[in-house]
Amino acid sequence: MDYAVISDVHGNLEALNAVLADIFSREAQAAGGKRTMLFLGDAVGYGPNPNECVDAIKKHASQGVAGNHDWAVLGLTGTGSFNPYAKEAITWTGSILSPETRASIEGLPLVKRVEEDGLFLVHGSPLEPEKWHYLLSFSQAKVNFEHFKEKICLIGHSHLPFIMERSPSGEITAYKDGAELDKAGCRYIINAGSVGQPRDGDPRACYLLLSGMRAEFVRVPYDIGATQQKMRAAGLPLPLIERLQKGL
Ligand code: ZN
Repeated sequence: MDYAVISDVHGNLEALNAVLADIFSREAQAAGGKRTMLFLGDAVGYGPNPNECVDAIKKHASQGVAGNHDWAVLGLTGTGSFNPYAKEAITWTGSILSPETRASIEGLPLVKRVEEDGLFLVHGSPLEPEKWHYLLSFSQAKVNFEHFKEKICLIGHSHLPFIMERSPSGEITAYKDGAELDKAGCRYIINAGSVGQPRDGDPRACYLLLSGMRAEFVRVPYDIGATQQKMRAAGLPLPLIERLQKGL
């Protein structure tokens, strides 16, 4: 396996470009050729550059799935569960979305399987992907392990990076920074964290590397002030601007 996994970009082009540069520089150093890039949804919403982000993701990611913000901007899912700021950002995003971006988002499936490496991709959860459940607790993980058959399920949505491991006897163990995925009979649910709006208290962009049988989160600093300035100019809600520097 040799994958770079990105999720929850949310129109933050500075964060996305920093992550892409980090991925490319690792490729150049490793001389092992190109890493396959996977995208776990929410290209748009919150941030000031939805068109540019969708464009870059389309160019670099070979497989991807749709997130709830992607669907919301197309009107495919309601914004009832969104807070007022998220709703406002979706309305703004919809007003500047190009027809090409719209078409690219429409082409994203809800789930995707990468059979050769036993990967299952979904934005929220394998259980009822169209309902955008959050998958955070051990008990939620236990239920969700029954809803995909692959060895590894990759998710996004909560913007909180983690690895959950299920042993053959059903025991769940969580890892924070990275883990070996080679224990006999174990299966995994991994949240790749968020490129464009981290919420674990670390404001740096986050993505996931799958190299061989090792999973590891990478944090990449980016010009948060530049993104915030664009958000101000676009008139996006202040709490969405301020949360970027807190990583919450
Ligand atoms: Zn998101």
